[in-house]
Amino acid sequence: MHCPFCGAPDTRVVDSRLLVEGDKIRRRRECVHCNARFTTYEVAELAMPPVVKRDGRREPFLEKKLRTGLMRALEKRPISAEQLEKLILRVKNRVHTSNERELSSQRIGEWVMEELRRLDPVAYVRFASVYRSFEDVNAFQVEIERLQNTLLDPANSG
Ligand SMILES: [Zn+2]
Repeated sequence: MHCPFCGAPDTRVVDSRLLVEGDKIRRRRECVHCNARFTTYEVAELAMPPVVKRDGRREPFLEKKLRTGLMRALEKRPISAEQLEKLILRVKNRVHTSNERELSSQRIGEWVMEELRRLDPVAYVRFASVYRSFEDVNAFQVEIERLQNTLLDPANSG
């Protein structure tokens, strides 16, 4: 990203918050050379680190895919479209500000589960059962019990 004022090649992001406008991310940058500040608009998908899947293959971070998985988990749950969008934004923000070169799909899944656990326990279990693809029934049972304990004792909810 060249500075539009002096042409220097080094600029830094001064505000790492994710400001989404349509499918663009708005960023404030500062030129390392002349200290001029300016705004850039970047295509959202390009600003995200690639996702490493379980089998080691990489794919771009796809918001659509995240949304599809969440909508499946939230089906017929009392969650508004606005709550869903906010959740997606928080996850994207986390992916974006991780500053990692790449992220495992597992890690992103854990972040989504953290969000869902707070938002809706049923959706959380649904998502977790698909996402973690529990290898046996016992693993799933442990998760349900852990969740129940959390619900019974809010002090443990973290
Ligand atoms: Zn400059």
